[in-house]
Amino acid sequence: MSSVNKFLIYLSFYLFWNSFTLADRAIPFSEKALEIYKTAVEMRTVEGFNQVPRLARYLKSEFISGGFAERDVRVLDIDSTAALVVRYRGDGSLGKKAVCISAHMDVVDAHRSDWERDPFKLIEEDGYFFGRGTSDNKLGLTAVTIAFLRLKSEGWVPGRDLIIAFSGDEETSMNSTKALVNQYRHLTESEFVLNADAGGAIIPESGGTPSNFYMQAAEKTYVTWEMTARNPGGHSSLPRSDNAIYDLATALGKIQRFTFPVRYNDITLEYFKKTGQQMKGEIGKVMQTFASDPYDGKSSGILRMSPRLSAMLSTTCVATMLRAGHAENALPQSATATINCRVFPGSGIDATLEQLKVVIDNPNIEFKMLDQPTESNASPRNLDVIKALRVAVDTKYPDLEIISVMSSYGTDGMHFRAAGIPSYGVSANYGKASDDFAHGLNERVLVETFYDNLTHWYVLLRAVAGKY
Ligand SMILES: [Zn+2]
Repeated sequence: MSSVNKFLIYLSFYLFWNSFTLADRAIPFSEKALEIYKTAVEMRTVEGFNQVPRLARYLKSEFISGGFAERDVRVLDIDSTAALVVRYRGDGSLGKKAVCISAHMDVVDAHRSDWERDPFKLIEEDGYFFGRGTSDNKLGLTAVTIAFLRLKSEGWVPGRDLIIAFSGDEETSMNSTKALVNQYRHLTESEFVLNADAGGAIIPESGGTPSNFYMQAAEKTYVTWEMTARNPGGHSSLPRSDNAIYDLATALGKIQRFTFPVRYNDITLEYFKKTGQQMKGEIGKVMQTFASDPYDGKSSGILRMSPRLSAMLSTTCVATMLRAGHAENALPQSATATINCRVFPGSGIDATLEQLKVVIDNPNIEFKMLDQPTESNASPRNLDVIKALRVAVDTKYPDLEIISVMSSYGTDGMHFRAAGIPSYGVSANYGKASDDFAHGLNERVLVETFYDNLTHWYVLLRAVAGKY
């Protein structure tokens, strides 16, 4: 082959490859998107730093310059944080209630000394964006903001109102989310919520197409108890059989050996059925058997061996912290363990506590609930959501199967669900399992996923509120 031919082949590869990269960045508003993303990531919106109100006001100014009316962009100061509500007025032609779009402006803290790079600088390297919040949740927040700005600039009028409801303390107390659905309900009243803080697909480690898109439609309830054994104590030179540490240890051993009974709902059965059909080997068959008969103890027993699958089968409770005694030469007067539970939707917090008490079988051990939990039911199937999501997912992965899932972690969605507004986690968080560093060190997101989300949310909002 002549060197000229070699050069031409090289050149065509080069152009072919770059056409993708250029296409990503050629999306309208992609420069604005990067500017907002960088500004958001570089504000340390951690509890106690007072940066969430600053971010909310910055975003507000972007919406106002983008053509939204002052009265439709509201920064709500709530405790020491803030929420942001933006109403995109429709013409009402669909005759349907508004749709809310949820994301959060705060992040979990990160320390420079722990990270390889500065966590509060947006750094692009090796096809990734690095920085705290690049994935959780400034990715969703930016994509939703840009979708609003882009649609507005095109003069698009939705057939129903769209409402952005960004919270400011999702990672901690969620008081701003509670305020959004209670105190400020007149601003967020809607048929359902599209949550940009959940949803997505797992890209195989070797690349290629994911096997499913996961839409979050339910979440388990987070509740924590402190369990305390008390004792009059005494001198450690005169030990007795009654002892606060031993009593607590006995109770903990019983909790360790206990497994909550299997529970299921339409969402978990759909998950096990569809995932089982796609998976090769024994585990796929076991998933399908469980989906057709959740009372089949053998299949649930096998699924229990995986912590991830086990969490989808029932309530879980686990000891996470411990403190006891007051001096090395004294019999302990108290011993306390922290028990964190993730309650299966519909099981009930009271029933979970009763079950724990039966298991430990010691009426002298006290339970104290920490914080007030929020219980939420699974969101019902909604065809408008599924249809709109289908169009959006197709922009990246045509015909990728959409599966509803229950998450074992909590999001803002639980407060909307608890307040009677169903919530669906529908973001295009596409990444490899090995790239998932949300809350952890060196959080990152594929550069391609950043741009995919811009298109995803633009198409999704047009589809969910477009006139037919
Ligand atoms: Zn989040």
